[in-house]
Amino acid sequence: MNRKILLANPRGFCAGVDRAIDIVEKAIEKFGSPIYVRHEVVHNKIVVEDLKSKGVIFVDELDEVPDGERVIFSAHGVAKSVEDEAEERHLNYFDATCPLVTKVHNEVIRHNRANRDVVLIGHAGHPEVEGTIGRHDPSSSKNIYLVEDVNDVERLEVSDEKNIAYVTQTTLSLDDTKDIVDALNVKFPSLHQPRSSDICYATQNRQDAVKQLSLEVEIVIVVGSINSSNSNRLKELAEKCGVEAVLIDSVADINLSDLGNKTSIGVTAGASAPESTVRELVNELEKYFKTKASELGRNSESIYFKLPPELR
Ligand code: SF4
Repeated sequence: MNRKILLANPRGFCAGVDRAIDIVEKAIEKFGSPIYVRHEVVHNKIVVEDLKSKGVIFVDELDEVPDGERVIFSAHGVAKSVEDEAEERHLNYFDATCPLVTKVHNEVIRHNRANRDVVLIGHAGHPEVEGTIGRHDPSSSKNIYLVEDVNDVERLEVSDEKNIAYVTQTTLSLDDTKDIVDALNVKFPSLHQPRSSDICYATQNRQDAVKQLSLEVEIVIVVGSINSSNSNRLKELAEKCGVEAVLIDSVADINLSDLGNKTSIGVTAGASAPESTVRELVNELEKYFKTKASELGRNSESIYFKLPPELR
């Protein structure tokens, strides 16, 4: 049987993930281990295990970081209270928050200053959402509300319907947020819109690529971890496009014989999944099916986010 293996473009690491991992690696290089990192620096099991082997200690909260040590905040961003705690304890900290997440934080602060309620579209419990909610000034008379779907919008009661804005988690599917944004606009006709979409370029590009890939293949394999929001969105999007999809950390998670009846297989990777893991999977697929994989389209991303000055 003739097989086709196609690789989506772009896929894998985005500029925010590249920067966050660079910050941790440069900090180890410069200061030696241990380096503490609050939360998984990016949501990828293989990246996290690799950093642990280099001397990184991952913690859930700052109280697990001994006085005088160095700590890095993850790419998902942190609440203002976390920064304040680090300052109060004179911890040496580096902030690996993706600049696109910081942009959303700044929008929340701007709306606070304009005395507006804010609706955040996102997933409860995700660290990015917790960080963004934690940018709302608790002393303000206004609120921040989390909505996860259209039903939440229907139930939402705000203090001032004429003075309200929305922001979104960066890694949601554009299709999902569209329905919620439409519902918000119907319910609150004076809703303030973000200056530009909060959905990041990398999320958008990887979703566009997986839509293209889904037109060409019977199954899409998404390389990424189960707790990676954007990897899950890629899997859901492939399924919405009518093809089977699986999410795996690495080739070890898939039984290649299960793909035996597929004539066309697509591969993509979430923004926190390393290309080396994709390559291992592709090598195994090529060996197993005795065929060469081809790239679908090309990656024209050239965005780069600078490191903090102390680590350049
Ligand atoms: S997916 Fe987007 S928002 Fe998230 S780290 Fe990457 S560039 Fe930043």
